[in-house]
Amino acid sequence: MHSVAPPPETPDALVVGAGPAGLMAAEELARAGLSVLVAEAKPSPARKFLMAGKSGLNLTMDESAALFASRYDGDLIAPALADFGPAEVIAWARDLGQEVFTGSSGRVFPVAMKGSPLLRAWLARLAGQGVELRPGWRWCGWREGALAFDTSAGARLVRPRVTVLALGGASWARLGSDGAWVPLLAARGVGLAPWKPANMGLRVDWSAHMARHFGQPVKGAALLAGGLRHRGEFVVSARGLEGGGIYAVSRPVREGAALVLDLLPDLDEAAIVARLARMRPGESTANRLRKLGLAPVAAALVMEWAREAPFAALKSLAVPHRGPRPLDEAISVAGGITRESLTEGLELRAVPGVFAAGEMLDWEAPTGGYLLTGCLATGRWAGRRAGRAAAARLA
Ligand SMILES: Cc1cc2nc3c(=O)[nH]c(=O)nc-3n(C[C@H](O)[C@H](O)[C@H](O)COP(=O)(O)OP(=O)(O)OC[C@H]3O[C@@H](n4cnc5c(N)ncnc54)[C@H](O)[C@@H]3O)c2cc1C
Repeated sequence: MHSVAPPPETPDALVVGAGPAGLMAAEELARAGLSVLVAEAKPSPARKFLMAGKSGLNLTMDESAALFASRYDGDLIAPALADFGPAEVIAWARDLGQEVFTGSSGRVFPVAMKGSPLLRAWLARLAGQGVELRPGWRWCGWREGALAFDTSAGARLVRPRVTVLALGGASWARLGSDGAWVPLLAARGVGLAPWKPANMGLRVDWSAHMARHFGQPVKGAALLAGGLRHRGEFVVSARGLEGGGIYAVSRPVREGAALVLDLLPDLDEAAIVARLARMRPGESTANRLRKLGLAPVAAALVMEWAREAPFAALKSLAVPHRGPRPLDEAISVAGGITRESLTEGLELRAVPGVFAAGEMLDWEAPTGGYLLTGCLATGRWAGRRAGRAAAARLA
């Protein structure tokens, strides 16, 4: 039994989910002169965004438009990205008083590195635009033609002219994106692709010898999977392998490609053979690996996985992992609302007047600022289109 709710509130626009996609949608709706209410299940907004800032908030990537667009899978969010890409993200952050810088790899960060100053400025600007934030409001479906919420004060109903759902994906549930909205949309006939982890670590069963290397980065290796070759860093942890280098090849690995490491990418096989030939005949394997330039953690990987023929494996060390770490640990997810379920303006075909944005849509991209840019772009795109739809309904 549902508790009796007071009569529905009737703002022009309702945004559900106060992550980057939802806040951007709210900004666009308010800019269109509409009254906007933002409902957020957690006690405070944008928890994943703040978590993203803990290791440096990578807002976007400074690279050519063609290269940038090629990083995204599928055409679902292409129009939104063409409208709001790296240059626009940078201008938006500066407009919020957050100077940015471009790191050596093209990654763009706020000078403050973390997300909290930007979020504070953004929330203040939204409040100035009249956007009303309702933390602790969990959307639980539709009732009596309205959106129904569980709140600490009991059940509440909202019947807006338009709605933007920006509920996030299905990883890091403790930050709010728990994917619990899936059955609510499935019940309304919205097509949903199953969740898959993206930018995730890999499970590895280690022998006891590896414990002393947990937490160590492996630097300068090349990771090869499914035709991809990525030079990058990754970390050996008690749970397996994680970090940027692993995330970069995580998609082909998730789809079944073997993962191979080239631990000496700057030396060819002949050079390795020549260097080994110059070493003392009685030299231990450990010393030889060290003299070839391998850090202790990289040498430990060779001995863990290729003890029988360590030197032959230096440029092609097969990684015997046990598949992706669990979905909830992934940096992002693939899956969610399908392209076919959405109009070009990101309106749900099955539920007119309801738009969707951010990670709840079925697209994926690597780390490097592509995720936040995709969420901001779709939030803006859906917010704009919802604003136009609301204006048409008001006329
Ligand atoms: C550790 C980590 C580091 C990251 N670093 C980066 C980075 O540096 N650069 C980058 O581009 N990306 C990064 N990301 C990814 C990025 O943070 C996400 O892609 C982005 O936050 C998704 O935005 P969103 O608005 O779609 O969803 P979310 O940020 O997940 O927000 C969804 C919101 O909806 C709310 N919600 C869910 N269900 C309900 C409901 N039923 N009712 C009401 N509210 C609800 C949630 O509480 C949440 O606040 C990182 C992610 C992680 C986990």
